[in-house]
Amino acid sequence: MTGTAAGTVRRPPAALERSVTAAIRAGHAWSVRRRRPEAWLEVARMTGVIMRACGPGRGPATPAELVAALRRPLREWLSGCDEAVADLVVLDADGELTEETYDIGCDYTVELLTGLEDPGARWLPGWSVHRAEQIEKAAFQALLSGGDEHYTRGRRFIVEHPAGDQAELTLARNRLGLPPLVAYEEIPVERRWRGRWWPCPVCRWPMRVRASQVRCDFPRHDAVFALTGAGALHPLGGVRRAPRAQTVDGAVCVDESVWRYFVVPGVVEVRLHDRIARLPGVHTSLYPQKDVCDVAVWRDGAGRCEFTLDVKDYASARALARKLEDRPIAAEWLVLPRYRRGQVAELRRLLPDVPVTTEDGIYQRIRRAADRAGGAQ
Ligand SMILES: [Zn+2]
Repeated sequence: MTGTAAGTVRRPPAALERSVTAAIRAGHAWSVRRRRPEAWLEVARMTGVIMRACGPGRGPATPAELVAALRRPLREWLSGCDEAVADLVVLDADGELTEETYDIGCDYTVELLTGLEDPGARWLPGWSVHRAEQIEKAAFQALLSGGDEHYTRGRRFIVEHPAGDQAELTLARNRLGLPPLVAYEEIPVERRWRGRWWPCPVCRWPMRVRASQVRCDFPRHDAVFALTGAGALHPLGGVRRAPRAQTVDGAVCVDESVWRYFVVPGVVEVRLHDRIARLPGVHTSLYPQKDVCDVAVWRDGAGRCEFTLDVKDYASARALARKLEDRPIAAEWLVLPRYRRGQVAELRRLLPDVPVTTEDGIYQRIRRAADRAGGAQ
């Protein structure tokens, strides 16, 4: 799939984007069919979308064929597959969405039924139906009407409080003078175990409980634990510190789309901001001017902003590059989470005019600039 000149990003055909979205929506519907009767209709509807996109006689032709296909890599049944999604398997052996779908799905979802009422939009998680901008508009309406400082405080609050005891969350929000921001709902059943739930140690959102395993749906958090019969967690992944169990009674969390689009990237944005803010002689601003960029950095005495950073967390470098060709970032630096450092070289090739680095790379660069300035004074 190369042959692309540096700096221009080949766009996947609209039909492929639609098919990938339909596959993810059908997979999600299938995974919840036991508790959502409308899921069956959604699988049938998505079969129609895929049939129209593939053309007659190619690809799955019935809902049963589609569900079987969702357990195989997309390249085996979806023609013209982009390399970023070629190996994506949507459903695992238990009929649950795979972690890769949570990871890659967000890069890909497009609106399937523009201008029409979309029945799936009423109950499917937002990330499988809409793009981030629409979710952002809906989620942050309450913040956009206030001042800049208010916006920053509110957005940070959501990133740091994606779940918890409802009364405590309300108290903490009131203390910051914030209005209700996004909807919180009960802890979903698949994230409960005998009246308990566990926050992911990285993003604080409830982890999924399956058989004797508890794990965060976002695979890059690498939070995986073995669950004993007595309810103790033993680390199996990179995160070694097990979280304390919380009571389901009175507990709430943000929905999947807010978690996936704002909390997951927000964890990196806030972590990077706070780390830079601790450097001596350095001033920072998080989400300045209502998110014109993620972090702005300047030194003591410097009248102008010396670094502006935008963190982007995409599973596919190619999908990110395409996105930035449509909507270039306002920040000078494109910053990747450290778990995406493998994308740096590809993005530098695809976007030769954009300086690209990782959260650790930019931190070191700013630290050195601050040291030099300190030494010169
Ligand atoms: Zn997590």
